[in-house]
Amino acid sequence: MKIRVGHLYPEYLNIYADRGNIAVFARRAALRGHELDVASISVGDEIRAGDHDLLYIGGGQDREQALIAPDLVEKGRAIEEVVDAGAALLAVCGGYQLLGRGYLDQQGESLPGIGLFPHDTVAGERRMIGDVLLECELVPGERRTVAGFENHAGRTRLDPGAEPLGRVIAGFGNDGESGHEGVRVGRAIGTYLHGPLLPRNPWLADWLLSQALAHATGGEPPELDPLPDRLEATAHAVSAERARRRGGRF
Ligand code: GLN
Repeated sequence: MKIRVGHLYPEYLNIYADRGNIAVFARRAALRGHELDVASISVGDEIRAGDHDLLYIGGGQDREQALIAPDLVEKGRAIEEVVDAGAALLAVCGGYQLLGRGYLDQQGESLPGIGLFPHDTVAGERRMIGDVLLECELVPGERRTVAGFENHAGRTRLDPGAEPLGRVIAGFGNDGESGHEGVRVGRAIGTYLHGPLLPRNPWLADWLLSQALAHATGGEPPELDPLPDRLEATAHAVSAERARRRGGRF
């Protein structure tokens, strides 16, 4: 199968090697006999519903976010249509913030978001920096961990009843208080975790690929053949251990 990925603002939002997530999707898809077709969607480009099985947006500093925020707002309705039609989505840090209702930075300047995710983000005094470990249950009964690295001033508050990506075991997460990290709305996932995220969390890469394949085929998310993932397991363990030792402290 061809999996059509729309990569939003790759030249603006690519902090902490977030682009590496695309490399993971491409490799893991190829190892299962699928081809990843990645299209860049940047300022001024149009998004057509039906053209994408997976959308991806990375993280960036306030400066980069401000550069793309007005264009993103114009694309908001189209992004919502793509997701409503069953495509998968992954949003990291700066992108995650702007897919919510907006971001108020430390200078009191407010960036509009598109309201796809049920949250607001306000910058706090101290940046929340360090390794993070989460427990997630995207499939009921299947508990998995996610490890990564966070660096954000924004405190993201989910609406009551909204589903986080995971529960924080170690690290700050969305706001350093709620015990929540990220958000999940159906096949759309938002998270603060960089690193990049997917090389050390291959199960999450596969979950997203499988949701994207479901959109591509119009069927159920397929079971993907397991891969050895030895390096990935080591990377995950190292990262998880660092989070347990130091995560969530200023
Ligand atoms: N500007 C945002 C913050 O600091 C996002 C930073 C990032 O993407 N790492 O909260």
